[in-house]
Amino acid sequence: MSTTMKGAEVAKAMKETLIREAEALKEKGILPCLTIIRVGARPDDLAYERGAKKRMELIGIECRVRELPEDISQREFEKEFQKINQDPSVHGILLFHPLPDHLDEKPVKSIIHPYKDVDCMSDVNIAKVFAGDETGFAPCTAEAVVRMLDHYGIDPKGRKVTVVGRSMVVGKPLAMLLLDRHGTVTLCHTRTADLEEECRKAQILVAAAGKAGMITEAMTGQDAVVVDVGINVDENDRLCGDVDFDAVEPRASYISPVPGGVGSVTTSVLAAHVLRGARYLNSIFV
Ligand code: NDP
Repeated sequence: MSTTMKGAEVAKAMKETLIREAEALKEKGILPCLTIIRVGARPDDLAYERGAKKRMELIGIECRVRELPEDISQREFEKEFQKINQDPSVHGILLFHPLPDHLDEKPVKSIIHPYKDVDCMSDVNIAKVFAGDETGFAPCTAEAVVRMLDHYGIDPKGRKVTVVGRSMVVGKPLAMLLLDRHGTVTLCHTRTADLEEECRKAQILVAAAGKAGMITEAMTGQDAVVVDVGINVDENDRLCGDVDFDAVEPRASYISPVPGGVGSVTTSVLAAHVLRGARYLNSIFV
C-alpha cells in the first residue's frame, strides 16, 4: 500500500509561510505583484491563469493579467512586454507559452529582468539553476517536484533517480535540482536504449514526458517513489498523467496522482518566487 503524495497538502503547508512573507513586504510598503502575459485565449492557459489568480489572492499577492490579441505583431508584443518589464510595481512576470507561431520568444527572454523572471525563461536563471546558485529561479514545475519530495520527507541523497523527459522547462532543470540534492540522476528521452530498465532501477522515478500512461508496472521498481509530472488527456477526455496509476500504485512506496499532484504545487512555487523577486528588487536579501 503506497502513500499518495497530494499536491494540496504540500500547498497548504507552504501557505502560512508565504502569507507571512507577503505581509512582511507590505509592512515595508511593497505590494507584491505578479503579471501574467497571455497571448490569445488557449483553454489550458486560461485554466492555469484561474489557478494562479486564486493562489496569489490567497497569499496576498496582486495578480494582473495582460491579455494580448493572438495576431499581435512581434514589435507590439516586445513593446508590451518591455512596458511590464520596466514597471517598478511588477515583481514577477509569467508569459504563457507556446506563443503563436508568428511570434519569437527569444528577444523577450533576453530582456526580462532576471529578478522578475519567476518561471526561468532567461539564460541567466537557467545558468544559475545549472550552477546550483540558489538566487536563481528554477522553472516552477521542476521546483514543485522537489518541494513535494521535501514535504514527504524523501531525500534524494545517494538514491538512484530517473527522470523521463529532458525539456528545458521540466526534465533538464529538475535533473540539476535533484543532482544538487545529491541524487544519482539518469535523464531519459526518446533515444534512451532501454527505458524500461532505466526506470525500473530507479528508487525515485519522475515521469515528465507528456505520454499518457507510459510508465507501467513493469517499469517500476518495488517500493519506488513515483512522481508524475505529465498532464495529458486520455481517450475518455479525462485528465491523466504519464503513469498508469492503478497498475503502478501497488508497487510504489509513494506516488503522486494526476490531477491533484505536482500541478497543485506549481502555483505555490510561483507565489514563493514572486515574493523572493519582490525582495530582491527591493534589495532585501534574506
Ligand atoms: P516536452 O514535449 O517539451 O518534452 C517531453 C520530453 O519527454 C522530451 O525530452 C522527450 O524526449 C521525452 N519523451 C517523450 N516521449 C517519450 C517516450 N515515449 N520515451 C521517453 N522519453 C519521451 O514536454 P514538457 O517537458 O513541456 O512537459 C512534459 C509533461 O509535463 C507534459 O505532459 C506537460 O503537460 C507536463 N507539464 C506539467 C506541468 C505541471 O505544472 N504539472 C508544467 C509543465 C509541463 P526527446 O527530447 O527525445 O524528444
